[in-house]
Amino acid sequence: MKNKHCDWCDTQFQTKLSYQIYCSSECREQATREKIAEKYNRERIQKRKNKVRLCKSCGTALSIYNDFNTCNNCESNPDELGQVLKEIKGIANGKIELD
Ligand SMILES: [Zn+2]
Ligand SMILES: [Zn+2]
Repeated sequence: MKNKHCDWCDTQFQTKLSYQIYCSSECREQATREKIAEKYNRERIQKRKNKVRLCKSCGTALSIYNDFNTCNNCESNPDELGQVLKEIKGIANGKIELD
């Protein structure tokens, strides 16, 4: 028997199998799932290359790593910001009167 540390949860476990790197089948499954998700994410990001995506709130070009339809500046609260921008435009055009 050999003492090993699980590659996923870092729990110490004992095994006779030199190729076993996870303490349990749960850890092995989780790690496999994570790897698949990682691969999927990488491919998704690669697909964005050479594609121009613009922020739906302000029209700024989005990073390929951005998972949202809005840029970092608008991300926090896109709807609210869109509303504020509309109001600012309205004020500028004299359509909304401030009291
Ligand atoms: Zn584990
Ligand atoms: Zn934006």
